Amino acid sequence: MRPRKVPLRKCVACQEMMPKKELIRVVRTPAEEVQIDLTGKKAGRGAYLCGKVSCFKLAKKSKALDRALKQPVGDQIYDQLERDFIAVEDQFIAGKELIGDEAE
Ligand SMILES: [Zn+2]
Repeated sequence: MRPRKVPLRKCVACQEMMPKKELIRVVRTPAEEVQIDLTGKKAGRGAYLCGKVSCFKLAKKSKALDRALKQPVGDQIYDQLERDFIAVEDQFIAGKELIGDEAE
């Protein structure tokens, strides 16, 4: 058995290191829009959050995304992201189950 290298990223809310695919990426696009990036491939500065609404709420409360994205994220944006986050959470979890044991 040889260990596979799993890329780790830190959740900006709870500061836990997690495999990249367990995290949801939030990106600040070159047009300075802040949005959720499920593909993980959008251009721009990214921040990672655990795929948990509780972590999103924590990030919102502590304004962790402002710091991670080096840009003030307004309350409206946080509210919009929270709605998107809840919407993608189910999809995200479902996708993970589908992927399952890839590359094993
Ligand atoms: Zn977290």
